[in-house]
Amino acid sequence: MNESKFAHITKVHPCFNEKMHDKVGRIHVPIAPKCNIHCDFCTREINKCEQRPGVASRVMTVDQAVEHVKKVTSEMNIAVVGVAGPGDALFNNETFEFFKRMDEEFPDLIKCMSTNGLLLPEKADEIADLHINTVTVTVNAIDPKIGSKIYSNVFYNGELYTGEEAFNILSKNQLEGIKMLAERGVVVKVNAVLIPGVNDKHILDIAKKVKEQGASLMNVIPLIPMHKFKDTPKPGCAELSEVRDAVEEIIPVFRACTQCRADAYGVPGKEDKHLDMTPSSHY
Ligand code: SF4
Ligand code: SF4
Ligand code: SF4
Repeated sequence: MNESKFAHITKVHPCFNEKMHDKVGRIHVPIAPKCNIHCDFCTREINKCEQRPGVASRVMTVDQAVEHVKKVTSEMNIAVVGVAGPGDALFNNETFEFFKRMDEEFPDLIKCMSTNGLLLPEKADEIADLHINTVTVTVNAIDPKIGSKIYSNVFYNGELYTGEEAFNILSKNQLEGIKMLAERGVVVKVNAVLIPGVNDKHILDIAKKVKEQGASLMNVIPLIPMHKFKDTPKPGCAELSEVRDAVEEIIPVFRACTQCRADAYGVPGKEDKHLDMTPSSHY
């Protein structure tokens, strides 16, 4: 079943099919500002100029987001509606209110979200019930020694965790959550941020594990050096290609991503507009 769903999605989803990436549009609604973990490369910001995940020009209410979808879909060819931050989609109830409205009012649009995956096990049923078609989970490590260098804390069930303990909670939930989504017929893409000297030799382990859990596709994206990793060099094209080629031996790889903002809409790279913000959760 997952294979036929994947085939259907890849025909039309610009983030799952490189051939469609510059042909059909997606609309991100920036309705999810809060985040429950701290990735050490993330600085979420509200601004109008930066072109990267984690940036959006403003946060919308659910009503404003529905109006925005109505307007944009009447003006251009949009196949996908997504929630990609600027925080974590699952940690903001607005995401679920919004997708309920989408399911009722725009049942033909593909519903998509990106998340850090911490809340996936408890939200997987609701995601499937709302007919969310595709979920991108960012998995930057599966080894706690490496993971604890990337995530400095995790806020879960009212407690703040740090170090390997924090990473272990996140990782368990990410991996369990991917499996639960796949079992419920939701197509899962995994993003991994390539961080030179930290997880560059570890990406293949991630690829093997997430494939085992039922992910359909992987997107290896280069670190944008910021925050604690501001002095880490951004991976070069050759390094990125080498890792992607190796990953492709394990799981299909999406290569057209240019890391867009949490409020981007239109056809990526072409008629690409934004409200003046980006999703961090895509890191
Ligand atoms: Fe594409 Fe990610 Fe947006 Fe989904 S959430 S439409 S995968 S960019
Ligand atoms: Fe999705 Fe990346 Fe394309 Fe943006 S650039 S629409 S994040 S695949
Ligand atoms: Fe949260 Fe995403 Fe930023 Fe990580 S990158 S801290 S998941 S908003």
